[in-house]
Order: sequence, then structure tokens, then C-alpha cells
Amino acid sequence: MANKYCVANWKMNFTAAEGSEFIHALNIKDLNNTQTQIILCPAFTSLFSMVSEAKDGAVAIGAQNMYHEDSGAYTGEVSASMLNETNIKYVILGHSERRHIFGETDEMINLKMHQALNNKIIPILCIGETIEERESNNTFSVLESQLKKGLNNINGECLIAYEPVWAIGTGLSATAHIVNETHGQIRSILSTMGWNNDKCPLLYGGSVSPDNAKELSAIENVDGFLIGGASLDVEKFYKIYLEL
Ligand code: PEP
Repeated sequence: MANKYCVANWKMNFTAAEGSEFIHALNIKDLNNTQTQIILCPAFTSLFSMVSEAKDGAVAIGAQNMYHEDSGAYTGEVSASMLNETNIKYVILGHSERRHIFGETDEMINLKMHQALNNKIIPILCIGETIEERESNNTFSVLESQLKKGLNNINGECLIAYEPVWAIGTGLSATAHIVNETHGQIRSILSTMGWNNDKCPLLYGGSVSPDNAKELSAIENVDGFLIGGASLDVEKFYKIYLEL
């Protein structure tokens, strides 16, 4: 298991050709900081080519979503066995855009968690509170509920990404104080559930950039980043990687 993780969530950006361009630009950089695992999560259509082009070991590929059934009449969905055919290692589950735009519930996300692990794909479970939940002092209970439901009956390797909804794509990262406090709370919830650091590294996501990466990566309990906007620029992404 790596010490740190630098995960790119490209969302619905980059064609396969653009993804290849990015990965070629990344491959020629020094990626010998073996403590940090890079994980690039492109659209489904780029997975085959990205896996074949990724630099062995240093760069792994993940999907951004999957469905919890093996196969069947689920138009538009992609199964774990389809993902396995591409040789990806990771899948992002429960991203706030999946929760808020596509109506995914904690129960649906839990089914996907089971399906990923049953198919030997490591899930990256995203959790996070809205601004209203933070302002009404409900952050702890929201995160506790997301963790308890999302990890219900789960026993296996996974990554957790704390992504406050109000910090995603807004340019307004959580402050170091908030990240420190909230990651501490998440660790304490996880330890009451019997999950330790080795079993589930804890990433921060939400407007991570080359300007704040150093300060955020120095915080205890930050085992890496999940990066949206800044991961679309190879130079910015690489600068963030160097700070981990
Ligand atoms: C994300 O979408 O997971 C994310 C963290 O986006 P951004 O870095 O753009 O806030």
C-alpha cells in the first residue's frame, strides 16, 4: 500500500485522445516519488487506452462510477466485470455530484462498495457535508451517517475521500483548521467502526491547487488528495503530486 495518494477526478472532461496527451506528458516527468500513488480517473471511454499507457506502478487508473448489479437491463450503466476487463484498479463511489445530481443514496453507494470489493476493485468512497449542514453544526453526524451506511458490512481495502460539498469546484478550499479538525473526527468515527489507518487512507478533496497543497498535505491524517479542476492541467497536477 502506498503512503500517499494523488487522485485525479477528470469528471466529464477529456476525450480519449486528450487523456493520452495528458498521460504522455505525465510519463516523461520524474515519478520516482514511490511513496505516492497517482490514480487517474477518466471517463469510461478512455479506460482501455489509459491503462495501456500508464507508467507501470507509478500511475494507476480508476473509474468514476459503476453499477452494483452484475449485468441486465440497466441502460447506460457499467458493471464491475466490464471495468475489470479494462484492468483498472480503483473506482470512485459516492462522489457528491453522483449524490446530488443523480440522486445516489448511501444505500446505493453501499451496494456499489460491496460489488467493487467482490470484484477486487478498490473503492474510493467520497463523503462530505453541504454548507447548510456545516452551518447548522451537523457536519459530524452527516459524516458519521455517510460512513456507517456507506461502509455497512464492508470488510476490505478502500480509500475514503473527505470532500466538503461547498469546497468542490468553488476555488474555496476548506481551511487547514477545518481539514485538520474534520479528518480527526472522521478518523475517530472510523476507529469506533474498527477501521484503522492502514485499512483506509483518508484523502482530502475540494479545490486543492498547487497553492494550498503544501499546507494541506502537512496536516495529520491527510493521506493524499482527490483533485478535480487542477487535475486537468498536467503541470498543476504534477506540482500537487510533488507536495505529497
Ligand atoms: C472533485 O470533484 O472531487 C473535486 C475535489 O473537485 P475540485 O478539485 O475542482 O474542487
